[in-house]
Amino acid sequence: METLNLAKERKSGPSEKDIHSSVGFLWSVGQKVTQKKVVPSRTEASDELSLILAKFNLSSHEKRDADRAIDRLLEAGVWEAIENIPEGPVEAVRLAPNYSEFFDNDPQWAASVVSAVLTRFFPGASERFIDRLDLEEFTRGRLYSALLPQIGEWFSKRLGISAAYGGDGVRGIVRFVDGYVSAISKTSSPYSDKVMQDTGWIAYVGDGLYGDQNLISGNRKMAECQERRIPVRFWRGDGRRGYRFETWTVIVQRRRQWGIGTDGKERKEYVWVLAPVPSPDVESWPRPVLNALDDDMAKFYDETLELESEDVECFAQNELEVGFKGMVERYVFLNSRAVEAERVRRASSATRSIQEYFRSPAARKAVMQRSEGRCENPECLGHPDERAVNGDPMLEVDHVRDLAQGGKDVPVNMIALCPNCHALKTRGENRNDLRKVLVLAARDKHQSLISG
Ligand SMILES: [Zn+2]
Repeated sequence: METLNLAKERKSGPSEKDIHSSVGFLWSVGQKVTQKKVVPSRTEASDELSLILAKFNLSSHEKRDADRAIDRLLEAGVWEAIENIPEGPVEAVRLAPNYSEFFDNDPQWAASVVSAVLTRFFPGASERFIDRLDLEEFTRGRLYSALLPQIGEWFSKRLGISAAYGGDGVRGIVRFVDGYVSAISKTSSPYSDKVMQDTGWIAYVGDGLYGDQNLISGNRKMAECQERRIPVRFWRGDGRRGYRFETWTVIVQRRRQWGIGTDGKERKEYVWVLAPVPSPDVESWPRPVLNALDDDMAKFYDETLELESEDVECFAQNELEVGFKGMVERYVFLNSRAVEAERVRRASSATRSIQEYFRSPAARKAVMQRSEGRCENPECLGHPDERAVNGDPMLEVDHVRDLAQGGKDVPVNMIALCPNCHALKTRGENRNDLRKVLVLAARDKHQSLISG
């Protein structure tokens, strides 16, 4: 049951019967523009209206009120009654011809009439209400152009957004009354959405706080937007000031990866790669974004296939407690997964920057296995075996030859380093000499395991 919060409105605003008739009007518009059933019988129309009135808590005598609304629409000439010949002598009802032509001839103006009715009688109407009336397609981009959020607009509370523009007040991915989807970032949480440095594209983690994410609800909406290239509003939450409508975006890639839910457990999660665009108008989208869209073709990159769930759990728990033979077997297995992932990564061109951003989890796991918890710099003078307070080795896995310079995201090009050696490799004055040492060290260790 969904309440449209009419209590306030009823005191001074529209009467209940105006609201009921408006539902009837909007419903017949939805029938008209989607051409679902051009001429429903009066009984069908009455049943439908009763269901809608009941579902959205708009009436406590929905059957009676639906019939009264139909009478009123017929009397006012908004609807007409006809003999429905093909289905026998049944009275059928539909939008009167002059209204019907109006929707055919000038959909933009017609949409502003619908918009006015929605604003007046159903302020803050939810996306489910719009969907139920079959108006989602018709109203997208046409409704509330003066009211809808402008870039830079912000709300101190999450619920403020839904009160103003509709949609759910809790979820990260919602659809507003104008039909566009909004992705609201959770920057204040530890699992925040990240921006890719070279492109400014956003890696947005999908709906669902813990447990495996599935292609339902918000993630389903995002998939629709990806497939049909419908732009998405991106909101950033900064935890203090609130939520800001930062930019229009378009989805250039859908991925699934291993992540950590709010319950601290490993889970599969969707990541949507959002490319900022100046406006929802495709004419304004930059060439690199269009290239990425052409390259993407709504494909789906599932990194979780690279590592199965059991592997992840196993590695998380006893990464370093397997015997040498087991270690070699795992290294060979993980290396083959990483090499395959790298091959797929290299196969695309326009989306390469995305592929470089999402590193192979198998490659990293393989290198951690190979290191046996020790810094792999043969000249390490730091603390090669140092452990963190939780007992984990304090190692950072790095690429010997940077990805930006064409290095591959595979174990032979990667090395586990203690914080000291990592700093020397990144910022040390002898970093070029060290790099040569590390190239050989990684290759030797890799070869000895692969050929062993
Ligand atoms: Zn070291």
